[in-house]
Amino acid sequence: MSLQFGPEYVRALAPYQAGKPISEVAREFGLDEANIVKLASNENPLGVPASAVAAMQAAASELARYPDANGFELKQAIQAKFNVPQDWITLGNGSNDILEIAAHALVQPGESVMYAQYSFAVYPLATKAVGARAICVAAKDYGHDLDAMAAAIAPDTKLIFIANPNNPTGTFLPAEQIAAFLAKVPSHIVVVLDEAYNEFLTLDHQYDSLAWVRQYPNLLVSRTMSKAYGLAGLRVGFGIAQPALTDLLNRIRQPFNVNSMAQAAAVAALADSEFLAKSAALNTAGYQQLTAAFTELGLEFVPSYGNFVLVKVGDDDGAGARVNLALLKQGVIVRPVGNYNLPQFLRISIGLPEENAVFIAALKKALA
Ligand SMILES: *Cc1c(COP(=O)(O)O)cnc(C)c1O
Repeated sequence: MSLQFGPEYVRALAPYQAGKPISEVAREFGLDEANIVKLASNENPLGVPASAVAAMQAAASELARYPDANGFELKQAIQAKFNVPQDWITLGNGSNDILEIAAHALVQPGESVMYAQYSFAVYPLATKAVGARAICVAAKDYGHDLDAMAAAIAPDTKLIFIANPNNPTGTFLPAEQIAAFLAKVPSHIVVVLDEAYNEFLTLDHQYDSLAWVRQYPNLLVSRTMSKAYGLAGLRVGFGIAQPALTDLLNRIRQPFNVNSMAQAAAVAALADSEFLAKSAALNTAGYQQLTAAFTELGLEFVPSYGNFVLVKVGDDDGAGARVNLALLKQGVIVRPVGNYNLPQFLRISIGLPEENAVFIAALKKALA
């Protein structure tokens, strides 16, 4: 018998399935990296903002020093942009870090954490990593059913994750629904409102979640620099909550969790409203391009408010994997979502117009 280490709930964890890197697909399928199109991880197709590259070059000569553990300049930039005091901010090594810090700070083994079916894969991971019990509430139209979630709150529930827009489905909860939900949640339960795709919302859908943070001491809003800001590889995100909750999170946070290059780049990117506007506009155009093609091909898709689209590529449970393989052979990487129990679907990140076109052509061949 082999030795077994660690608690049973850690051994039971299924590792996170990341999008395949370009280099791996090139090796596996004997393709030239330069011809591979990756639309798999909701990354920014515009790349890194030039402002952030310049900031990193300047920061490079300081790398012998530890980063600023309190991230003063980055918090200043967040304060300037979001109008919140610095003691309301928790910096994260990606917003993933914020989600995990919340689970570690707030939940004991055996207590429950709630999230929706078809919501972000990190929620079950963060839940199970602390030995908590998951309450996974059935989705409604591929999105959160907030009435059902409110009804499913248990006496031992300590944390609720909500992604808006949601990943991998792209669904969106209007402000009224979130406000009504927050009013129902008992004040000892922390709600994490994960707004990783907030910057892609059009004006008519934008809402003021920070007003809710001011109203509710049990609300934590998380944001990321990985998507609209184009810094996925650097790992920067942040949480905004009232000081009592923020103080608790910062006790769990590793002191140097956001490195110096990442802090410098994030400061520059946060101020780069031109890049943000360009990203959002490109995304809107790409969404039209992809969904027009899906309609032409007679494929169902879930209307998306993020920078990706969930599309149904067949009626059998082998469809997602089959079409995914046919796409990979043509050098197109998208995201199969069988791990989300959506085996008939693929999630396509919105790319540059020419990348979307390569994907559409490959999809046509894959379906033929
Ligand atoms: C991508 C994503 C994140 C965060 O990613 P980081 O790179 O860790 O900041 C968080 N939540 C959702 C729903 C996401 O899709």
